[in-house]
Amino acid sequence: MEEINMRLIERDQIEHEGYGAGWGEIITEVYECPCGKGQVISTKDDIPGFRDRDTSCKCPECFDKYDFDRNIAKIK
Ligand SMILES: [Zn+2]
Repeated sequence: MEEINMRLIERDQIEHEGYGAGWGEIITEVYECPCGKGQVISTKDDIPGFRDRDTSCKCPECFDKYDFDRNIAKIK
């Protein structure tokens, strides 16, 4: 399976007061999508008791073509 390493455009880290179990942070990373016309946004919640990761592609072309996992795009 072919994998593409996407280029990181922007990284943002914000503190979050958490949900009663202490402070955490939310990390947002913006990558250039494989075709170069759009963006892929990866959000990582690193908060005690609430850890989640979500990667969403804002480019309709690449959304149909790839599966995304953080900075990696895999051809479907
Ligand atoms: Zn694209």
